[in-house]
Amino acid sequence: MNDLCELTVREAHQLLQQREISSVELTESTLQRIAQTEDKLHACLTVTHDLALEQAADADACLNEGQGKTLTGVPVLVKDLISTAGIRTTCGSTMLENFVPIYDATVIEKLKAQKAVIIGKTNMDEFAMGSSTEHSAFFPTHNPWDLNRVPGGSSGGSAAAVATNQAIYALGSDTGGSIRQPAGFCSVVGLKPTYGRVSRFGLVAFASSLDQIGPLTKDVADSALVMNIIAGHDPKDSTSARQPVPDYTKHLSRDLKGLRIGIPQEYFVEGMQGEVREALETAIHRLQEIGAAIDRRASLPSTKYALAVYYILAPSEASANLARYDGVKYGFSAVNASSAIDATEKTRQLGFGAEVKRRIMLGTYALSAGYYDAYYLKAQKVRTLIREEFDQAFRELDALVTPTSPTLPFTLGEKLEDPLQMYLSDVCTLPINIAGVPAISVPAGFADGLPVGMQIIGKPFDEETILRIAFAYQQATDWHKRKPPLLSG
Ligand code: GLN
Repeated sequence: MNDLCELTVREAHQLLQQREISSVELTESTLQRIAQTEDKLHACLTVTHDLALEQAADADACLNEGQGKTLTGVPVLVKDLISTAGIRTTCGSTMLENFVPIYDATVIEKLKAQKAVIIGKTNMDEFAMGSSTEHSAFFPTHNPWDLNRVPGGSSGGSAAAVATNQAIYALGSDTGGSIRQPAGFCSVVGLKPTYGRVSRFGLVAFASSLDQIGPLTKDVADSALVMNIIAGHDPKDSTSARQPVPDYTKHLSRDLKGLRIGIPQEYFVEGMQGEVREALETAIHRLQEIGAAIDRRASLPSTKYALAVYYILAPSEASANLARYDGVKYGFSAVNASSAIDATEKTRQLGFGAEVKRRIMLGTYALSAGYYDAYYLKAQKVRTLIREEFDQAFRELDALVTPTSPTLPFTLGEKLEDPLQMYLSDVCTLPINIAGVPAISVPAGFADGLPVGMQIIGKPFDEETILRIAFAYQQATDWHKRKPPLLSG
């Protein structure tokens, strides 16, 4: 048999349930894979080796009694801004380098209720600000398809880990593309749910009106399986929706007949790499062959303002959310300060990295009395326009298809000194957070050995349709089965 860590959630669940494998064996296999690959990949910030094996033994006991659920005994890696009681949660920042939360995020509670096995926490851009994982205060993660390139970000650790079978699946968070863009760069499946679909309780806040937690998985069926567990209303998150949670696996294998998919031209942006465009055209053709009706008249003209809107709203919210890190309540605290103000200043000066400081400055500027109307308020108005355009498009269409990112994975350091170039990496993904709708990235080809992702965007709370399209596409292709060279070398 292949290494157990190569199993999908669905396969692992079946074998565990039938007691053909144990959770301890499966967990050991993932831990071993982490040990074999981490010196090259650097995807993890914390590996909870002993705790994981304890949880696995506990899961085995539960499975022996025939009490196993979907995720029982299945090892997961969690992005390091999702609060885990008793396990360090750094947010990729010096500010929280030694922070050990006393409570679990709701998604973690849900995983624990299933007796999932948490094997560690993954690397990320500091406070989820970035598109390459190079803004981690600790070290950059490398792309398993080419170690000189970035895995995308900010959930780059989770994406690289899933691509190399360090875990059976992972959780990430997405504020402007942070699940989908790294999923595209690492050739895994990444889903950003509708805003309000998954509880944000215990997700360390970056931009509260945009943040969502979602799964990074090896295939589309696993994405649906994990969504079944993590979605749903949470009284602890007032923005979580009361809508009932469907069984996301139910309609996966329905064919695409009768589905209308729009291709919004605005997403085939200037500056898009030719290889990405070609791969997408081939993928769209494939969707048509398997029964979808493709509509190329779809138009979302305000897309061109999305980047500007995002970089006013996200930093504004971030500047307020990050005000809590003052060295008093928790986290890093600067020593040798001469006064309370000096202590706060030194703490924030030393605890935050350059990108986080840039966002705080942008945000406080946009929110300041003299500029509020011109920037923040204006951006909110354009946000409404962008959302209305999506509503409009979805009156006639069931889904929209775009590239996940305009470029192939770029080299480490390439965009580090040029924030605008880095920001442009999310030009196709951030309008989706602005509108609050769901979107999934699926592997859709390779160019020069590097992955290309296809983004499928859906109506609010219609994750089912985008999963169905993604599943049909996956059945018709085998991009998701390719393995990164790191695993053969
Ligand atoms: N790359 C975008 C940013 O830096 C999006 C990040 C995210 O989705 N968390 O803000």
